[in-house]
Amino acid sequence: MKYQGSCHCKTILFEFESEIITDALQCNCSICIRKNAIMTKHYIEPYAFNLLKGEEHLAVYHWGDHDVNHYFCKNCGIYPFHSTTYEPKNYRVNLGCVDSVDPRNLTILYFDGKNQL
Ligand SMILES: [Zn+2]
Repeated sequence: MKYQGSCHCKTILFEFESEIITDALQCNCSICIRKNAIMTKHYIEPYAFNLLKGEEHLAVYHWGDHDVNHYFCKNCGIYPFHSTTYEPKNYRVNLGCVDSVDPRNLTILYFDGKNQL
């Protein structure tokens, strides 16, 4: 299935192919708990992900051991996805940014990042 997504101001537009999304991931590490984002359970691979618009408006935040690229829109501050420095073109997507998905109706898998990072 093809999904479309955006940041809040729609400067960042993207689409990706995925199985129908029925479950999601939420992490309690120090950054995820602040974002409170509900994320795709899997990373979307490069062949299935297409950034349509706004690459030049994406900023990246690094913290701790610097192995995650936390992208956010420079205009509205929304966090649409992140990747890792070792697989920078594989994105885990913030499902709150995806049209036609209601993240609060998904089965949530909780990842205890607080005690594993
Ligand atoms: Zn934006």
